[in-house]
Amino acid sequence: MNPEIRDKYEVVIGLEVHAQMLTKTKAYSNDINEFGAIPNTNISVVSLGHPGTLPRMNKKTIEYAIKLGLACGCDIARDQYFARKNYFYPDLPKGYQITQDKTPICTGGAVIIKTEEGPEKSIGITRIHMEEDAGKSIHDVDVFDTLVDLNRAGVPLVEIVSEPVIRSSQEAYNYVTEIRKLVRYLEICDGNMEEGSLRCDANVSVNLKGAKEFGTKVEVKNMNSIRNVQRAIEFEIIRQIEAIENGETLTQETRSFDALKGITISMRTKEAANDYRYFPEPDLQPLFVDQKQIDAIKAEMPALPRDLFLKYTKELGLSEYDATILTDTKAIALYYEELITFTKNFKGAANLLMGDIKSYLNQQGVEIENFPIKAEKIAQLIALLDENKVSSTVASQKIFPELLKNPEKNPLQIAEELNVLQDSNEDSIKGYIQEVIDKNPSEVDRYRNGEKQLVGFFMGQLMKVSQGKADPKASNQLMREMLEN
Ligand code: ADP
Ligand code: MG
Repeated sequence: MNPEIRDKYEVVIGLEVHAQMLTKTKAYSNDINEFGAIPNTNISVVSLGHPGTLPRMNKKTIEYAIKLGLACGCDIARDQYFARKNYFYPDLPKGYQITQDKTPICTGGAVIIKTEEGPEKSIGITRIHMEEDAGKSIHDVDVFDTLVDLNRAGVPLVEIVSEPVIRSSQEAYNYVTEIRKLVRYLEICDGNMEEGSLRCDANVSVNLKGAKEFGTKVEVKNMNSIRNVQRAIEFEIIRQIEAIENGETLTQETRSFDALKGITISMRTKEAANDYRYFPEPDLQPLFVDQKQIDAIKAEMPALPRDLFLKYTKELGLSEYDATILTDTKAIALYYEELITFTKNFKGAANLLMGDIKSYLNQQGVEIENFPIKAEKIAQLIALLDENKVSSTVASQKIFPELLKNPEKNPLQIAEELNVLQDSNEDSIKGYIQEVIDKNPSEVDRYRNGEKQLVGFFMGQLMKVSQGKADPKASNQLMREMLEN
């Protein structure tokens, strides 16, 4: 699209993210909550909505929702009640979902994201509420019929609704990425978009810059990756601008993203939208949360990615790039946290973790939780480097691989066994240099007659006679001094 035309418009995006809670059982029954079980095995009369059955609140869901709310700086509601959201669909046996309507468990708060222009942007959270998932209708397995799997019916969800303050598909991408990171750190949701345990509906509208009101919003569904959220929004922005430029009026509608074609397709318009007839759920008691409960949950909160990011950049002096990689997953951050209890060389520790250790994990397809070398040994290896006892090449090519094979050994012990300890003793280096000078009289003459670039040649010879052990830092100056005399 012509950038000048696009530039006339402002983009407005608000996201609704659903996260399946990682509880053992469902939201209102003892049915098992697990992905991938044989269809219709994790069900009971409660999930099936048989008459006369009653829901019972799973306390874990409340705890998880509060955790998320606290992590986003939300207000936690004290008095809550549940509501019925009524609609008919084959994968919804009760004919309604239990949700929260007027009294969401969390309100306010924000998710802080990185942006293209500035360092950070705060995306306001309108509300986070608890609800239950519906079953799953499967349209693509049987040629003639739609199949229904009710294992998912009643799985606990939180829905996170953002304010309409996201301004580009990239910001939307960063926002969902941040939420996924957050729920994984909190261990309340596995964040797997392919399996649908994290889902995102995108509300998108455009308006001429300076307009007093937002444009007509369109809701886009069915994106199964963060990348596809971005693609769907990008498509929608251009579709909407083109429609307006062509003099068409947009209608408020729900559209579905087709990932293969990269386009959105109309599903239903606002006129055909459901009236959910919300009313208070009579079968569940109101929910009261007190400060004691909130404090207890607060006390169990893990370090959050943003806190660690700030600590690494502000206190440890790491670059934003390093801090981003180190806080990308909780497990990596925890390993780093342990590492820096054993070394004060924070940058050295970051380098080793992001370099040799990460390449090993990637190559072997291993998670850091199963990395064989203890943080303490890695810190010892960093100390050997800091004390110039080994070169960085030797550390990564000789000692690190040996440590992987024998994780119980000490790096120093390995360096000794492999005979790779660097010599920075002045007298022994002088001995090596003298040997080099004695062996290469004509080069020495040329050096003394002005060919100073020969110093590289002499350093090479020095490595040869010392079998790579002369500490280059200590040797360089000595070499020049002895050649001059
Ligand atoms: P609905 O009642 O249709 O669900 P809401 O007002 O509850 O609409 O908003 C749902 C989501 O849509 C929120 O994330 C909100 O930020 C977003 N939203 C609201 N208005 C707009 C708009 N004009 N353009 C883009 N997003 C919007
Ligand atoms: Mg909505």
